[in-house]
Amino acid sequence: MSLSSLPSHRVVILGATGSIGMAAVDVLGHLSQTDSDANWELYGISGHQNLRGLAEIASQKRPQRIVLSDPACQNDGLEVLRKIVFPRDMRIDVGPEMLVDLASDPEVDMLVAAIVGRAGLESTLAAIRLGKRVAIANKETLVVAGDLVRRLAAESGAELLPVDSEHSAIFQCLAAGGKPRRIILTASGGPFRQWTADQMRDATIDQALAHPTWQMGRKISIDSATMMNKALEIIEARWLFDCPAEMIEVMIHPQSMIHSMVEMIDGSTIAQLSPPDMRLPIQHALTHPRCLAGKTPTLDLTRASNWTLEPVDRERFPAISLGFEVARVGGSAGAVVNAANEAAVGLFLDGRIRFTDIVTACQTALENHNHETNVTLDRLLELDRWARAEVHQWQARTSRC
Ligand code: NAD
Ligand code: MG
Repeated sequence: MSLSSLPSHRVVILGATGSIGMAAVDVLGHLSQTDSDANWELYGISGHQNLRGLAEIASQKRPQRIVLSDPACQNDGLEVLRKIVFPRDMRIDVGPEMLVDLASDPEVDMLVAAIVGRAGLESTLAAIRLGKRVAIANKETLVVAGDLVRRLAAESGAELLPVDSEHSAIFQCLAAGGKPRRIILTASGGPFRQWTADQMRDATIDQALAHPTWQMGRKISIDSATMMNKALEIIEARWLFDCPAEMIEVMIHPQSMIHSMVEMIDGSTIAQLSPPDMRLPIQHALTHPRCLAGKTPTLDLTRASNWTLEPVDRERFPAISLGFEVARVGGSAGAVVNAANEAAVGLFLDGRIRFTDIVTACQTALENHNHETNVTLDRLLELDRWARAEVHQWQARTSRC
């Protein structure tokens, strides 16, 4: 087949300067060199403040469009800098609203949603509304608005492909066929898996950021230490796979080789295994249902290995019960717990609350809100603002640290 008659994939990576974003740029480069049955093009990228990181990707990969989402970048300094660092023919836009514009660009057929936090919500929804294929790493979108995401995707025909390693694993296990009875999410347990509650109370920022098996952005690293990441993933699984919270289990698997499992009603359990490397689930999301040669390391199962699975201690990690509760009640709870967590993680990283206060802040915000069902997007965004303010007021009242 000649190059021009091959199917084309024009991809936008939002959050391209982050841990997932850079891995996605790498995967796309690999696919564009090795996939003989399709043309892969990196059409657009975004980053929030990391101008140098964006410029580096831009000069190597030559996307047509770039968005700098932080409005503070809109100043004279940027004007000068962009003439120097970005190739002249590139379109460069500044401001958060341009994320939606780029995600909605008619030239684009695939979005990699790799922005961290609720900031990724509107752009992800925009691509879903337009029926694009969305590789979704930004789990917070599903936590805040999972019900809405499902409804919009059903209306538009948008395909949602999980990037989160556990959800990619579940997706792959479900592809085996059969009727699922239980979804078993695995969790590494994070850096404090064996710490007591008292020790965790005094955990420092550096200790909390030091994840034993994954290299990730700061927010998700803290989430992994509190196990709020697993709580968010329980909620993410509830919406992505349309399964009740009661079907979901969490098991600690410190080696991060088994990425999740699905138990079928006939008693068989299917698991997905691979070394921890996010490029694998990213490539799976981009190429599904095709399976193409990857560039990530593979497991050597001929060598002796000692993998363990153990139940999670919900007393030391109360985030897990919180995640199950939010997945069970749905409605407004996801937006509240997500915003409370983002605010509390920010306060912890600023040295203003203790590590164990993060989950307490989330529990307090959830308890103080009146649960609502059938919530509109506007209302979810209002609740997001309310929960952030609530956490800041709680911190001021209790003056932790
Ligand atoms: P990161 O902090 O490394 O990168 C975040 C990206 O989002 C950067 O490009 C940054 O510029 C951009 N960004 C930050 N704030 C923004 C804002 N207000 N508006 C617009 N853009 C903004 O984060 P990450 O670890 O790559 O995680 C990204 C998402 O993927 C998160 O939702 C995370 O939960 C999920 N995820 C990450 C991993 C991982 O291994 N890193 C694994 C599974 C899921
Ligand atoms: Mg995960």
